[in-house]
Amino acid sequence: MITQSRYIGRLAPTPTGELHLGHARTFYQAWKRARDAGGTLFMRIEDLDTGRCKPEFAQQALDDLKWLGLDWDGDVSFQSQTPDRYLDAWRKLKQGGWIYPCTRSRKEIRALRPPDDPDEQDTEAIFPIEWRAKPGAEKKYNSPEGITWRFRVPEGESITFSDIRKGEVTYTAGKDFGDFSLWRRDNIPAYELSVVVDDIHQQITEVVRGEDLLRSTARQLLLYRALDAPPPAWCHEPLVRDAQGIRLAKRFHSLSIRELRENKKTPQEVLQMGDMH
Ligand code: GLU
Repeated sequence: MITQSRYIGRLAPTPTGELHLGHARTFYQAWKRARDAGGTLFMRIEDLDTGRCKPEFAQQALDDLKWLGLDWDGDVSFQSQTPDRYLDAWRKLKQGGWIYPCTRSRKEIRALRPPDDPDEQDTEAIFPIEWRAKPGAEKKYNSPEGITWRFRVPEGESITFSDIRKGEVTYTAGKDFGDFSLWRRDNIPAYELSVVVDDIHQQITEVVRGEDLLRSTARQLLLYRALDAPPPAWCHEPLVRDAQGIRLAKRFHSLSIRELRENKKTPQEVLQMGDMH
């Protein structure tokens, strides 16, 4: 039986491309923290975005992580196979009046972003409060399909959490982030919802991930509250940067784990390269 005091972690790759050095390092830390704690570690493939995710990238991610020496417990789960779980959460949030249907287009929202936004951590524009749907607008919907759904953030509220690497972190709702999307117009549950629903379902006790998701953690804490579930502990790992100080992304093919493997690097060398940057 799994008890709350036991460590339960997860590795949660999104298979939209090849894993790079930054992933190697973050996943390694997640693996190590779970193993050092004598805990359980799940492998969850976050493949809800069927347009961008490819089964071959999922397979490649599993191969690359095994090659690095990582292992996990139980079967690999795929978010694409558990749609009802996200739908149930949508219903619960709708019933609680936490979310509303949003008719604004992505283009309209993107136009609000400053042209040279220097914040590489999170580039979503703040959704204007005047654009919110009226309270009760959600009532006539029996399904999320066909429209974007947003979470109404408590503007002005400080959301503080303690991070194992960063210490105390605070964001202000409505200032650092606005009403965020939970369900996309193309009928795909958004990241913020699906990740929280699965972390609750799998009884994750500690989330280890890249620090580019720090602000998402504040959003996710609002969802834990709305869904009446206890949040896990948080550990956000520093991002790996290249020699110019720019964070790595999947498009930097030369630093993909696959390429490094082909160039005869050993797993230890790859993990150390992650450390040097
Ligand atoms: N699947 C997400 C990603 O690859 C990570 C989600 C998380 O760890 O919360 O960016």
